[in-house]
Amino acid sequence: MSLLREAERCIANQGSHATLNALITTLQHLGPWLERVRDADTRRTQGTSKSAVDGRLIAIKDNICTRDLPTTCASNALDKFTSPFNATAVQQLEEAGAIVAGKSNLDEFGMGSHSINSRFGPVRSLRRNRDGESLSAGGSSGGSAVAVATAQCYAALGTDTGGSVRLPAAYTGTVGFKPSYGLISRWGVVAYANSLDTVGIIGKDVSSVREVFGVVNRPDSRDPTSLSSFTRSRIDSHLRSPALAARATSPLKIGVPLEYNISELSPSVLRAWSRSLAYMRRQGHTIHPVSLPTTTLALSAYYVLAPAEASSNLAKYDGVRYGTRSEGPNSATFPSGYLYASTRGVGFGSEVKRRILLGAFSLSADAMDNYFIQAQRVRRLVQHDFDAVFRAHQPIASGQPETNTNPEKDAVDVLICPTAPSSPPRISSLMDHNPRASPLDAYMNDVFTVPASLAGLPAISVPVTVESTIDSRDADLAGIQVIGQYGDDSLVLKVAELLDGRHL
Ligand code: GLN
Repeated sequence: MSLLREAERCIANQGSHATLNALITTLQHLGPWLERVRDADTRRTQGTSKSAVDGRLIAIKDNICTRDLPTTCASNALDKFTSPFNATAVQQLEEAGAIVAGKSNLDEFGMGSHSINSRFGPVRSLRRNRDGESLSAGGSSGGSAVAVATAQCYAALGTDTGGSVRLPAAYTGTVGFKPSYGLISRWGVVAYANSLDTVGIIGKDVSSVREVFGVVNRPDSRDPTSLSSFTRSRIDSHLRSPALAARATSPLKIGVPLEYNISELSPSVLRAWSRSLAYMRRQGHTIHPVSLPTTTLALSAYYVLAPAEASSNLAKYDGVRYGTRSEGPNSATFPSGYLYASTRGVGFGSEVKRRILLGAFSLSADAMDNYFIQAQRVRRLVQHDFDAVFRAHQPIASGQPETNTNPEKDAVDVLICPTAPSSPPRISSLMDHNPRASPLDAYMNDVFTVPASLAGLPAISVPVTVESTIDSRDADLAGIQVIGQYGDDSLVLKVAELLDGRHL
């Protein structure tokens, strides 16, 4: 199919799927971009394409700055804000010939797991249960995932702080990749929790994800946490050491983290997991049970650390330095501080307010030792747990090990586990008006994704289908997660490709 035809189809799908609420801002018509797509088509026929994404439409999560379209973070705090510059990742895509397909809906500032905490209303997935009820699209990059699943774009950028690219991918049957922390620039990405935030990629398959990654996996001097060329080449030479390079041709050792077999795991997800492992074994790879004991504490630690960083990041939306201002009824008759309280009250939704309160509490003098400091300790232990099971050493850890590999006999190359403990819940069961909906239920969905986030590791969710059984409803599609050592992103993508879209 020509690029022009593909782009026209995307625009048509944006129109016909508008009720899914996946995109906050759409292209609507190809007019101004027509020439760019035509030029890309010509380059393609001449074999001179700028990149693998030349002429392709890429949706951008609406917490990533774009010069041509507003950036709202799905929040009232950022009303009518258009950035004067593109985020580095967007700039890199545009220079590679890609076209911004629109801005995708999300949980406000990336806080949530179902893309329902949005000022623009919830994202709707095409997936329904047998009773015809709408299912969660996952979050917070649910708009990006639904836009990809319904071909409103070729691929999409999301952000993943604790699972926001992987969970929506698992819930919508797409591929969601969170690279190692520091590979994709965060410059121009609105911060939620800086030490955890990564830009991630959602695509219909692993190869489209790899194409986008090839363009945005570059150093950026404007992001202090972006890995320099020097560090990147250090990681490459580490991975090229004979013991690790041999993995390209020899069978892989696949780790199965025992602690992920929790009681909340639904039978359909368990089945998808075990069949994925059986499939890998049939391909000649070996399966090894491993233990990541601190995993059980990871979720609690994440929900202390992420809100703590968020409360600090969001302090700037005070209506004076930044963001929408709410003056209040009559500022002369109200005490000073009214502007600030009123702005913060109007600007933020309830989940964001909850996170700010949680974060401000855990950073307060009395609570600091028991919450924030403990959570930092847990984060360290989570990283140690991963390092203890991977064959490749952490390549940029302080205190260089003498060898590149872990001497443990059963050290593994990648881990395979579910992305989420169950299939997507019904949207109606999650909304505020449901008296039984608790924020903790949403947090529980992140139990398998936050450990890799805390350790900064590359992780990807790929869809697999399993034959459904009579008793399970909508049980046939599940997201399977592949996690690798820091910097081992290529291996993670390679293993993901083996499982991507398999019917098991
Ligand atoms: N659901 C998690 C949270 O609400 C993760 C969000 C994300 O990765 N942006 O914090």
